[in-house]
Amino acid sequence: MNYFASFYQQIAVNKLAPWLTSLPQQLARWQKEQLHGEFSHWQKTLEALPNTSPSIVDFNSQVKIGERRDINEGEYKRAENLLKKLKPWRKGPYHLHGLHIDTEWRSDFKWDRLYPHISNLQDKYVLDIGCGSGYHLWRMKGSGAKFVVGIDPTQLFFMQFQAIQHFAKDTSVNLLPLGVEDLPELAAFDTVFAMGVLYHRRSPIDFLYQLKAQLVKGGELVLETLIVDGDENTVLVPGERYAKMRNVWFLPSAKAMCAWLERCGFSNVRVVNADITSVEEQRKTDWIDTESLQDFLDPNDSSKTIEGYPAPKRAIFIANK
Ligand code: SAH
Repeated sequence: MNYFASFYQQIAVNKLAPWLTSLPQQLARWQKEQLHGEFSHWQKTLEALPNTSPSIVDFNSQVKIGERRDINEGEYKRAENLLKKLKPWRKGPYHLHGLHIDTEWRSDFKWDRLYPHISNLQDKYVLDIGCGSGYHLWRMKGSGAKFVVGIDPTQLFFMQFQAIQHFAKDTSVNLLPLGVEDLPELAAFDTVFAMGVLYHRRSPIDFLYQLKAQLVKGGELVLETLIVDGDENTVLVPGERYAKMRNVWFLPSAKAMCAWLERCGFSNVRVVNADITSVEEQRKTDWIDTESLQDFLDPNDSSKTIEGYPAPKRAIFIANK
């Protein structure tokens, strides 16, 4: 299965063409590395999904593809069983022919928080760095973007995206299995999103430069990350775990984050939203088998994580190159 043929064809004739000098080699290497058991199981799962003709597609107010009546009972059950094999489903929700993939995260809440503040995506080239299964990619498309690229190095999320794409069949929305460090300096995107990723980076300043390198001059960065209360000099570097996550490095205050962005040469830096993550937004559902936010908080004091740090609070920053 060549997942990327249509992507190469499209970028050959658009402004991402320079990427063709490095990308096919990188992804060919990636594909060779995926030969182990799990990947081929997931591939079989994808191949067994029913082929459907959705009577409706809505990416504007939700991610909905098809109605229940477009498919028969057997196809519905088969889709449900197969999609459950791709658990854990973290980011969503998705509505596929009446099947509700009730993901751990209500990623639509985040979209609703940021959407009133971002510049119009109509006809834009957009990049979502660390896009998970790609929920927001569809919402970007639904907001008029011309060409949507997401990158995320997690194999399962790539497969989940392929499952949604199987039903959506929209070649202008793409997910590449890459990390931010794999990107050349493309300077081609009108808007770059980087949400929920900065605190996983060991070098957040280098990360900000990597984001900037993907933007056209004047382009917009939309960055979302965990923050703590404090002034421009406040940064929390947690111990081994934060909310049971091992890979959390830097939690700046909103003011410190703005100062970092300015130091990296971004202009017009602003915080458009700050919000304590609720157990309505991140919770256990039938589509994950693991713990969720409730289990990461102090059972006696939900303002603290189980390790005693401030509970997750997130802010959205917008800035221009
Ligand atoms: N942007 C989504 C998902 C955030 S979860 C949202 O806001 O809802 C963080 C994601 O970052 C995970 O999907 C993880 O696979 C991805 N990630 C981890 N390391 C990365 C890297 N080096 N480059 C890009 N993405 C990375």
